[in-house]
Amino acid sequence: MKRIDDFSLKGKKVIIRCDLNVPIKNGVILDDTRIKESLKTIKYAIRKSAKIIILSHLGRIKEKEDLEKNSLEIVSSALAKSLKHKVTFIPDTKGKNVKQAIDNMKNKDIILLENTRYEDLKGRKESTNDKKIGKYWASLGDIYINDAFAVCHRAHASSVGIAENIENKGIGFLVEKELKNLKPVLTPKRPFVLIIGGAKIKDKIPILTKLLEKADYMLIGGAMAFTFLKASGFKVGHSLVEEESLDFAREMLEKYEGKIILPIDVVLESGKTVFVNEIKDDSKALDIGSQTVKVFSMYIKEAKTIFWNGPLGLFEDEKFAVGTNKICEIISKEKIPTVVGGGDTASAVIKSGFKVGYISTGGGASLEYVAYETLPALEALK
Ligand code: ADP
Ligand code: MG
Repeated sequence: MKRIDDFSLKGKKVIIRCDLNVPIKNGVILDDTRIKESLKTIKYAIRKSAKIIILSHLGRIKEKEDLEKNSLEIVSSALAKSLKHKVTFIPDTKGKNVKQAIDNMKNKDIILLENTRYEDLKGRKESTNDKKIGKYWASLGDIYINDAFAVCHRAHASSVGIAENIENKGIGFLVEKELKNLKPVLTPKRPFVLIIGGAKIKDKIPILTKLLEKADYMLIGGAMAFTFLKASGFKVGHSLVEEESLDFAREMLEKYEGKIILPIDVVLESGKTVFVNEIKDDSKALDIGSQTVKVFSMYIKEAKTIFWNGPLGLFEDEKFAVGTNKICEIISKEKIPTVVGGGDTASAVIKSGFKVGYISTGGGASLEYVAYETLPALEALK
């Protein structure tokens, strides 16, 4: 796989697929991390006198009403400000305005096209990797650089589609950084400990199956724990359980006896901590308890590699962030090599205030990369 600095960019039309998918509410960007993470590659292309064509998605487009609130126009202004460089926004994804703008580009000019997912409105062309649109976007440039790590697990037109239709292609600095930092998890020093929590199991079953094969231990917290606790015979009251994943949990508990470590105590909605065999029918558990933190920390302190996905409690509420925060503190103090993946997990760890290893911006992509060791959009660049 080539990298952006393997190419001579001067005077070349360089398509950069960025991840500018920032959270926006009432026209205000709530968090510009993704814009900041994109700067290095764009600035490099400016320094090398390229003509820069930026593509990105923003949110999801299902119906007409989704269009306006997911326009990249305000992102374009924010990007220009961060770059301290003019960015021309073209409110189209294709057509004569796009062509004209590109034809008139000078070296170091930057244009940002409208949200690639506008193409999803009729026929989900971006998200199903429609052959025509991918080929069209590829025709706009000389070189294609994918720097949108967070969507590399999806075979979309702006990732896989363009790559399949252009000869000169490679990764940007953000993708390079992510791959470099996720690598230790692919060839982990042992003991290799997984910390798994969060809410959704079903979507993560294939990944969990893969990771369980590789890991020495899997510590389970979060809502995820209650499906596993229920599968092993405990009553969990109103705690979140994914009924359709009970069979999977049972199977894993049987196959990996001794590898899967479940909570021994939990914090209830009322604030009371109880052992897992004391959860009443009318109560709901929202965090791991202090005894569980002690058990988990024994494994964590021995670990040579940790991969963590899923907050260990309902961390959005400070009362139930204690377990997650304690685990962050232990990892941070003991300096255990750790990679954190997953959108909410990253937020939870950052919110704890402790310095915890490497926090991937990749969300689902980092999970899939760690499990499968490659991603569709990366394969298309080879
Ligand atoms: P990620 O985005 O990192 O992959 P998930 O989306 O799977 O993580 O899960 C995050 C969500 O899980 C958070 O909103 C958190 O509040 C929730 N959660 C964690 N533990 C519990 C719990 N015990 N009960 C209910 N929700 C929980
Ligand atoms: Mg999430």
